[in-house]
Amino acid sequence: MIKIISFDMDGTLVTSNYVEKVWLEGVPTLYAERHGIGFEEAQKLVYDEYMSVGTRDLRWYDLSHWIEFFDLDVERIDLLERYRDEVELYPETEEVLALLSEDYDLVVASNGATEFVEFELGSHKHYFREILSVTSKFGKVKDYPETFYDLCRYFNAEPEEVVHIGDHRYFDYEVPKEAGLFALYLDRDRMESGPDVVHDLREAAERVMGM
Ligand SMILES: [Mg+2]
Repeated sequence: MIKIISFDMDGTLVTSNYVEKVWLEGVPTLYAERHGIGFEEAQKLVYDEYMSVGTRDLRWYDLSHWIEFFDLDVERIDLLERYRDEVELYPETEEVLALLSEDYDLVVASNGATEFVEFELGSHKHYFREILSVTSKFGKVKDYPETFYDLCRYFNAEPEEVVHIGDHRYFDYEVPKEAGLFALYLDRDRMESGPDVVHDLREAAERVMGM
């Protein structure tokens, strides 16, 4: 019996537009200004540094870390504010959240830090029991089953009462499944099909309601 639906955020409920602006435009722009180099050079340099850390490391998600690491002259909040208008939900997101919130507790479990989660979904808080950052809250990335055990424990639920939905095959599908949750892989590029694969949130909703 599913009680809780857990969603990934970026690429799942919200397009990657906002995070890409902050990380791949905002940070390099500030880097270029601060260190007196061109934007493209700065962008490559910044990107290479991100990649050398990688998405399984908490520092990847930590804007304060990068502001300090690159010695940028900016307040974290100002950088987040700068691209506020770039937050963009997928066309079906609101309708699906409204529908599912009638019968299930909805939560967000994002690797993105709390400030990103708040910025990107703050105005849609009312659909959710909680929107949370697993990296900020549990100090863990969604790369081990323990993160999903923490999530279930936090919401007082058994793994088999929770379904997690997200667009990252490993973080949002393989790992939660290994932890004993139900999981749906959201493949928006429609490359895959199968019983656990959905292509948009409407399809995910239908699948969950049939569980
Ligand atoms: Mg995602």
